Amino acid sequence: MARIIAVANQKGGVGKTTTTVNLAACLADEGKRVLLIDMDPQGNASQGVGVDKNTCEKSVYNVLVENMPCEDVIQATPYENLSLAPSHRDLVGAAVELVTEERREFRLSDAMAPLQEQYDYIFVDCPPSLCLLTLNALVAAFEVIIPLQCEYYALEGLSELLHTIIIVRENLNPRLTIAGIALTMYQHTNLSKNVVEDVRGHLGDSVYTTIIPRNVSLSEAPSFGAPIIHYAKRSAGALAYQALAEEVKSRG
Ligand code: ATP
Ligand code: MG
Repeated sequence: MARIIAVANQKGGVGKTTTTVNLAACLADEGKRVLLIDMDPQGNASQGVGVDKNTCEKSVYNVLVENMPCEDVIQATPYENLSLAPSHRDLVGAAVELVTEERREFRLSDAMAPLQEQYDYIFVDCPPSLCLLTLNALVAAFEVIIPLQCEYYALEGLSELLHTIIIVRENLNPRLTIAGIALTMYQHTNLSKNVVEDVRGHLGDSVYTTIIPRNVSLSEAPSFGAPIIHYAKRSAGALAYQALAEEVKSRG
């Protein structure tokens, strides 16, 4: 059975997509069968594994709005063992199109049920809001990884996200747990250090030991459509995401 992991935080630009793409790529590189689902209309995760969302005829949009089987939209990526269910800009309107539909929070979950035997890991990259797309991801997932940027406002909005997770667990998906909090974009400054202490103080063991540093290679890799282990294998960013992938694996 696949571990289905949503990567969520309604705060923008905290490293959701970077974390999703790179965890998926590290585990695929180890031989795990990995599916990446891009639930963000921005399509950054699709681009991060070398797929242009504008050229995809079938996407997560068709799954959510037209009940197309998930299998029909999944495509190979240039990377072995790593498949993608791409995003499409039409996803922006999916929430409105589904507003009168029953079980609209379950669209992704229902569509993914037949896939669970085919993969070891399924990662779902969420958009930066607590919208119906994120809700679909949280309902489909067993676990959530929450990236937090090592910046002053790191904890802002976190209580809202944790509250949403509790509501989802109580009403829609009782199996949902928090896999871990991933600290991202760490810099060797007092501010970053203080944020790490603060977050660990508040959230304790749920915070992963591995901290992802701010690393230029990590920000360059997406423009080459390459996960960091394929773009700059020996960079600090690659080593950090490999370590985080090991932690995700061992904590599962
Ligand atoms: P959004 O909310 O828009 O979906 P996000 O939470 O998915 O954003 P990312 O796209 O992963 O965040 O990261 C935001 C930006 O920061 C991107 O340009 C990315 O390349 C860069 N970035 C992410 N992590 C790092 C890092 N550790 N070091 C340097 N740059 C990073
Ligand atoms: Mg993103």
